Amino acid sequence: MIKQEQIPVTITNSLSGEKELFKPVNEGHVGMYVCGPTVYSDVHLGNVRTFLTFDIISRYFRFLGYKVRYVRNITDVGHLENDADEGEDKIAKKARLEQLEPMEIVKNYTEGFHEVMRQFNILPPSIEPSATGHIVEQIEITKKLLANGLAYETNGSVYFDVLKYNEKHHYGILSGRVIEELMESGRKLDSQDEKRNKVDFALWKKASPYHIMRWPSPWGDGFPGWHIECTVMSTKYLGETFDIHGGGMDLKFPHHECEIAQAVGANGKAPVHYWIHSNMLTVNGQKMSKSLGNSFLPRELFAGNHPLLERGFGPMAVRFFMLQSHYSSTLDFSNDALSAAEKGYKKLINALIAIKKIDHPGNSVTDAERNEEFKRIPAELYQNMSDDFNTAKTLAVLFEMSARINDIKSNPALLKQIDSETFEFFKQHYISFIEDVLGLRMEEEHNSDLVNGVINVLIDLRKRARQDKNFALSDKIRDELKTLGVQIMDGKNGEMNFTIE
Ligand SMILES: [Zn+2]
Repeated sequence: MIKQEQIPVTITNSLSGEKELFKPVNEGHVGMYVCGPTVYSDVHLGNVRTFLTFDIISRYFRFLGYKVRYVRNITDVGHLENDADEGEDKIAKKARLEQLEPMEIVKNYTEGFHEVMRQFNILPPSIEPSATGHIVEQIEITKKLLANGLAYETNGSVYFDVLKYNEKHHYGILSGRVIEELMESGRKLDSQDEKRNKVDFALWKKASPYHIMRWPSPWGDGFPGWHIECTVMSTKYLGETFDIHGGGMDLKFPHHECEIAQAVGANGKAPVHYWIHSNMLTVNGQKMSKSLGNSFLPRELFAGNHPLLERGFGPMAVRFFMLQSHYSSTLDFSNDALSAAEKGYKKLINALIAIKKIDHPGNSVTDAERNEEFKRIPAELYQNMSDDFNTAKTLAVLFEMSARINDIKSNPALLKQIDSETFEFFKQHYISFIEDVLGLRMEEEHNSDLVNGVINVLIDLRKRARQDKNFALSDKIRDELKTLGVQIMDGKNGEMNFTIE
């Protein structure tokens, strides 16, 4: 493998809009914080894409030999229904609707989230802190911001004073939003409002008498604002200045902008060197959204259980599909694109299975040109991944490699043109980039256990139908399974076996 010092990594920094050379705060180490899910509903595919992006980034840095500390939080309090600090807390609302404790909601959806991450082979972060586990720290930083004159208390709530902050610093540095425009847009403050200015945001909210999620504070019982948790948890585990902060594009404003203001306001320095934002998913060219009826959950995608889906697709085919485009581009879901991705995925995996079985015969007659080619192509994997984590181009190189593997498979004599060291280099890189860097693996076995079980139930029903001379039903079961790629073979003595395409 090639050493990390030889491979400079560039990152498109959302803060500058430029592609920049990555220089870690501490040599050989990477500190990365990613905004995790608000655990009040099932994780949707847009979230999966975001977490996949940062899975790839942490995997690649680890592959290069960096020590990575990856912190991804769980938001289990403080995320209100709209970004203007209004509406109900999302978790509390769900708890009320389902007549459960908020922590039951949190536990159920956190487990569901972890299950989806596991299905997509998205590795767990190094630390997964939760907002409710850091209430004390959130109160402390709020006190600090009050002491620094950048926050004010009104009626048991505390707000960040954006205009005051902007006198010395730049609110809008990340998102490009202009304060004067923000002040003019949207509705005006009315006399009921506690904020001095509409751009201000909550650090701490007073809990109404019937609000169930509440903690004591110097300002009375309440709960933290949404943005403050990420400032607290990122700097607690990664230091006041750390390398990478990531999240979905939709979090750039106001969430990440507010995080910068809070950290600068409290600690006097910019918290993050590189901001990375992953782009969104669209479906047949339209934004994926619940209200348009075109958003589906991972389990619906696997089962093909949605009007927009012609059939189901396995998590690895979907992972491959997402990796085919750069994280900063929008990605469009369609049946055709998914089918094509599934084919591509199988091609790479088949070559993976093949090369694992190929060993170099030793004493070779080397063809210098061919030998050079087998050294050059794997090096291109690094060039592409180090160029802002370009998984699309990395896959193109892997396809080129898979074609060479297939050549060798059909004509093993080709192996004699390259020396064993070069072949090992080629082989190890093909395996590592597929399995370790891109995190692709064979579709899971236990899924096929489930499928086999279901098919066996149908076969039993078909046997019974035949005993009852209900041949119409028996044929229907056989034919419908066939359209799904399951072939039933009838034996002489009434036994039935099956194969899956
Ligand atoms: Zn966050």
